[in-house]
Amino acid sequence: AAKDMGGSAFKFYTTELELSWLSRTFILNELEAAIEKGEIEVYYQPLIPANTETACQSAEALVRWQHPERGLISPADFLPQAERMGMIEKIDDFVFSQVCQQIKTWQANGIGDVHVSVNRSAHNFGNQRGRLDWLAYIREQGINAGLITLEITESVLMRRHAESGHLLKKLRQAGVQIAVDDFGTGYSSLSYLKEMDIDYLKIDRSFIRDLEADDNDRAIIEAITGMARHLGIEVIAEGVETLSQKEILEKIGCHWLQGYFFAKPMPVDVFEEFLASANNALKQNVLPAL
Ligand code: C2E
Ligand code: MG
Ligand code: MG
Ligand code: MG
Repeated sequence: AAKDMGGSAFKFYTTELELSWLSRTFILNELEAAIEKGEIEVYYQPLIPANTETACQSAEALVRWQHPERGLISPADFLPQAERMGMIEKIDDFVFSQVCQQIKTWQANGIGDVHVSVNRSAHNFGNQRGRLDWLAYIREQGINAGLITLEITESVLMRRHAESGHLLKKLRQAGVQIAVDDFGTGYSSLSYLKEMDIDYLKIDRSFIRDLEADDNDRAIIEAITGMARHLGIEVIAEGVETLSQKEILEKIGCHWLQGYFFAKPMPVDVFEEFLASANNALKQNVLPAL
């Protein structure tokens, strides 16, 4: 590995292929230490209830690696490797525990209840061996389980592992909400929707991107939203970038909107400012002037 070759190993590799191989190895060696060194951070991206302009009291937690030399590394650049190396569970557990602590801090600081959606990898989903027991942790920390949503992909529901189903049911019975992430991009057998109690479908960004121009996207979103309404499931649209996308999605009846149009994922202090200003703006809009 890069470490064994000494600190100057990078200088001898010039081709892109070798460099990418080397940096991959390098990243993996560092990832484990990164958690301990506090380089793994949780960013928060607001989830906006449709038709309320700026109100916000919920967010999705998204992991970032604040690397001392490489700067901010996004999940696409280290999660796939972490998954292959069996490191993803550690990262997910870390993010989850950070989120729980943050929820408690917000309550203690008078910011109040903030709902947070946490991603959990499909990799070894139901296998609890050697990892944090999320339900036990919620209870130990005295957190209202209703403030936490678990985001999973369709693949978890499709595989029908007894372990995965059992874990999901236990979490849901305790009050944790379940969201299906990237909905519409996996193998979409819809039968799991009648077997599992799902709270949210997150419509994948790929259906939102060309929404203004593409009638097929619109038809798909309408169909998903209509079906969800009948099933008592709320729909979240991901990747909302423009005002006209927002308006179309609200007209269709999506319940929640997430995307750069409202805000990017932010470090916690910036997210707190967003919360304060969004909710102040709302109060000014709603309350009659004195
Ligand atoms: P995801 O769960 O579907 O999260 C949404 C992704 O879309 C985030 O990318 C977010 O920054 C991005 N996004 C939000 N709004 C917009 C928009 O308007 N335009 C565009 N172009 N993108 C938008 P991010 O943070 O890079 O995360 C990528 C993926 O990495 C996530 O997709 C999720 O699958 C995974 N991930 C992130 N954090 C965690 C984690 O803690 N654990 C696990 N297992 N996976 C995570
Ligand atoms: Mg997600
Ligand atoms: Mg998503
Ligand atoms: Mg997505």
